[in-house]
Amino acid sequence: MKYDITITKTAHPKERPADESKLGFGSIFTDHMFLMDYQAEKGWHNARILPFGPLPIHPASTVLHYGAEVFEGMKAYRAADGTIRLFRPMENIRRLNNSAERLCLPELDEEGCMDILKTLVELEKDWIPHSEGTSLYIRPFLFGNDPHLGVHAVHNAVFAVICSPVGAYYAEGLNPVKIAIESEDVRAVRGGTGYAKCGGNYAASLRAGERAERRGYTQVLWLDGVERKYIEEVGAMNVMFKINGKIVTPALTGSVLPGITRKSCVELLRDWGYEVEERLISVTELFDAVESGALEEAWGTGTAAVVSPIGHLFYQGKEYTISGNKIGPLTQKLYDQLTGIQWGRLEDPRGWSVVVCNG
Ligand SMILES: *Cc1c(COP(=O)(O)O)cnc(C)c1O
Repeated sequence: MKYDITITKTAHPKERPADESKLGFGSIFTDHMFLMDYQAEKGWHNARILPFGPLPIHPASTVLHYGAEVFEGMKAYRAADGTIRLFRPMENIRRLNNSAERLCLPELDEEGCMDILKTLVELEKDWIPHSEGTSLYIRPFLFGNDPHLGVHAVHNAVFAVICSPVGAYYAEGLNPVKIAIESEDVRAVRGGTGYAKCGGNYAASLRAGERAERRGYTQVLWLDGVERKYIEEVGAMNVMFKINGKIVTPALTGSVLPGITRKSCVELLRDWGYEVEERLISVTELFDAVESGALEEAWGTGTAAVVSPIGHLFYQGKEYTISGNKIGPLTQKLYDQLTGIQWGRLEDPRGWSVVVCNG
């Protein structure tokens, strides 16, 4: 093993949630967490699993002042055959390293990181809920932790992983969401950190999110930061449109987060014979397609929801209804295929579903 992991088990295991229908998202945590330290002279060291609890942090720590933080979001699934599985975990590890590189944070050994994830998930496997659609959400995160205020690439960092049992995203079936297109704030610009999964991108997006919520919309659809004309992505999801039988999704221009669900959908759609165009798509083109009836389906893609049908789009004072506010057949097919692979119910010819251990 690349990182030698010391395990200290908790002497006080917590009561596990009895009612899996009330799990929600990200507020309950398992018994243990993973921590590892980095120093420029020593590299990554002191890999350890220990009882879940607060992190002591220096008040001058880089992350608190300059936002040096990157993270990942993935899930462990209790599969149909009784095994515990991850979905394309190496994609998350590579993206974490790409994000770290952008923020001048130290990168991790890929295989070493995989061992860390598998070791923690196996230790916490009894926390993975059993009900349909539930899973264990895994949150790896990496931050700069130098105890002084000078602004420069970090010499000290921490890599941590915490786990949270989460409920089924769609308790009542796949309901279309209402999305507001944001014309004022921008999330990211080319050359910035848009392609990195970093906390700072979220900090910059909160205001528009709040504004959308006050108007009754669940998430924001971002436009490009320069012309405010081209569609980028939705909140924590990438976005896809079916227009005249073809699939159009914004190209990864640097300001868009390269979603693993997005990538998986593109691969599936091409396998199914669809033409997928990764290109710029303007709001004008989109609303022309809505008005002419050429827009057949619109959906978001991300680990939390898998796919999320878009039923309404708000833009500059007007609300547009998409696909009669119903989930489209292709959106449903993608959802069924991806969740089928994730929970081990369907054939997985690409080897996306990775077995960690027996349940
Ligand atoms: C994580 C994330 C996504 C979705 O990525 P997945 O790998 O599919 O979960 C999309 N947009 C943003 C901004 C994200 O942070």
